[in-house]
Amino acid sequence: MTRSPHSSQTLPVEFVTSALKLSEFPPADLPEVAVVGRSNVGKSALLNRLFNRKKLVRVSRTPGCTRRINFFQVKERWWFVDLPGYGFAKVNRQEHRGWEQAIGDYLDHRRNLRAVLLLMDLRRGITDIDREMILFLEERGIPLLPVATKIDKLKPNARRQGIVQINKQLKPLAQFALMPVAATSSLKGDGIPELWKRIREVLGRGVGEGSETESPQEPSLETTHPE
Ligand code: GDP
Repeated sequence: MTRSPHSSQTLPVEFVTSALKLSEFPPADLPEVAVVGRSNVGKSALLNRLFNRKKLVRVSRTPGCTRRINFFQVKERWWFVDLPGYGFAKVNRQEHRGWEQAIGDYLDHRRNLRAVLLLMDLRRGITDIDREMILFLEERGIPLLPVATKIDKLKPNARRQGIVQINKQLKPLAQFALMPVAATSSLKGDGIPELWKRIREVLGRGVGEGSETESPQEPSLETTHPE
């Protein structure tokens, strides 16, 4: 396990299983967050960055796993769930239905789910397929934590405008959104401690959690702020 020079601690996280249907899901016994977004939005990079692990997500990506629901556990504390990326240009109708079914099963049945992190590439903003996902979550009253990715790809002004725009568009769409959007760069580490803080708030104090000093990447992580 690697230890980032910026982090106070690396969490004991591990890939547990990948599932396609309800009967394959692990027990809903710990507070949980899920991460979702278009393919290529930077989901793997963000998960790896959150846990200071270069290959945490790739490791689980044996063929077929990208279309599955991948469950990671922070030991006896939290579940982190990597939902299959959506928006493949070449996906056929049947595959799309399979995706919808798996995500629907997941969202309908995980009683321990505290929030879904919806990742959006800041350069693209909210796309139509993101709106579909937002609707899915709204219908079920599931809190949505919006996350803008790859903010390093924009200059400060464009970055600020993009973030303002996403916040503005989300308001009328997502009653259950935990605003404002979290602005992140997995490449540079921008916004990661702030995102961790919000994830921890959402997860609450998990089973067996000790003092605040156990927190990963905060407060000792140095960051470059969007400004
Ligand atoms: P996924 O399909 O959503 O899991 O996306 P990946 O994490 O594999 O990232 C897709 C591409 O975006 C890769 O080429 C990454 O290197 C790149 N990428 C991901 N996050 C960032 C970021 O914060 N900044 C920049 N510049 N590139 C990123």
